[in-house]
Amino acid sequence: MSVLILRGARVLDIDQGELSDQRDVLVEDGRIRRISRDRLEAAGAEVIDVGGRTLMPGLIDLHVHVTAVRMDLGSQVRMPNVFVLLRSVPILEGMLMRGFTSVRDAGGAERALAEAVADGLAKGPRLFVSGRALSQTGGHGDFRPRSDHLPIVDSCACSFRIGAIARVVDGVDAVRKAVREELQMGAHQIKVMASGGVASPADPIDAYGYSTDELKAIVAEAEGRQTYVMAHAYTPKAIIRAVECGIRTIEHGNLVDDEAAAVMARHGAFAVPTLVTYRALVEQGPALGLPPDSVAKAHGVLDRGVKSLEILQKAGVKIGFGSDLLGDTHSRQSEEFLIRAAVQTPQQVLASATTIAAQVLQMEGQLGVVREGAIADLLVVEGNPLDSVECLARPVQSLKLIVKDGQVVKRQDL
Ligand code: ZN
Ligand code: ZN
Repeated sequence: MSVLILRGARVLDIDQGELSDQRDVLVEDGRIRRISRDRLEAAGAEVIDVGGRTLMPGLIDLHVHVTAVRMDLGSQVRMPNVFVLLRSVPILEGMLMRGFTSVRDAGGAERALAEAVADGLAKGPRLFVSGRALSQTGGHGDFRPRSDHLPIVDSCACSFRIGAIARVVDGVDAVRKAVREELQMGAHQIKVMASGGVASPADPIDAYGYSTDELKAIVAEAEGRQTYVMAHAYTPKAIIRAVECGIRTIEHGNLVDDEAAAVMARHGAFAVPTLVTYRALVEQGPALGLPPDSVAKAHGVLDRGVKSLEILQKAGVKIGFGSDLLGDTHSRQSEEFLIRAAVQTPQQVLASATTIAAQVLQMEGQLGVVREGAIADLLVVEGNPLDSVECLARPVQSLKLIVKDGQVVKRQDL
């Protein structure tokens, strides 16, 4: 049984937009047991005096690919499994060290990886995995070049490589079975490619992914297991179509318009923009092996990114935090805070990566809050993020303490 006392912490309440005066916080067995104005003591406890600094919940990134070890996803499909796995280990650790104590993997990571991290075999955030994303033939998860003659087999051979973030599957019966398989293998939620995308070779951005019959079947199978579907989608038409089929979270959504945002708000769908990745794709893509067609597609959605935030915010859509970085660009994850701060208040940006993100993960009250009974994922930050989220964009300097599951994973100058 491990016991930790954080002394003299000013606790950040993101819902209220307030910083408390100094409190002592008792953490026991991975949970926050007590938050008190009085001095707390406990036998055998490790005591850390945080000196009146801000104590906030660990951050949550709702759109990552921890196994995207190269920017060119098409080429990593052919990488040996062991290379992909070993290269994903420092990616996981990097996320945790930036203060992300939970992440939702949007395709590629499997349940065993989540369990390996939970067991301490690798340092990393708590993982909510999607298994392999579902893509139609020629969709955003189909990385076969246009020049390939597609063989008639049950499933694409790329599905068996862990470098593949997606699997290709077509038809209502087949997608039902694919969802059941991903859930059997331990996916927490299902990811579907509901429009064209940037990194794949054969699908224009405005292409639909899947028929509505297929999308509805995918949603029905996920709902039958009390989980939900997240969909990659860019254009208003693709977004409306996906939401009307019951999809709960729209990923990217760069080209959203007022009408599509209104449909999202009406259905209670969440938006998970991933703006930093388009900057990375455009700025670093050419040097990191991103094919020219993909660089061109990234330019096409980059300009509309910040505008999409404005549209979603105005329509009252709940916005979660995502980054979607690939390969060597993972280090830019915290830059997403600064991009959002151009449109959202610090409180709104903080909510996107904590309370709203916890709702998406169906972990409300457990994650994303500093509250008695919640999971002890905690950060001690230099500065008040309610004044500016810039401190979160500089995690190496600003994060003095990172606690995940009640365990100290970083301690600096305390
Ligand atoms: Zn995507
Ligand atoms: Zn993605």
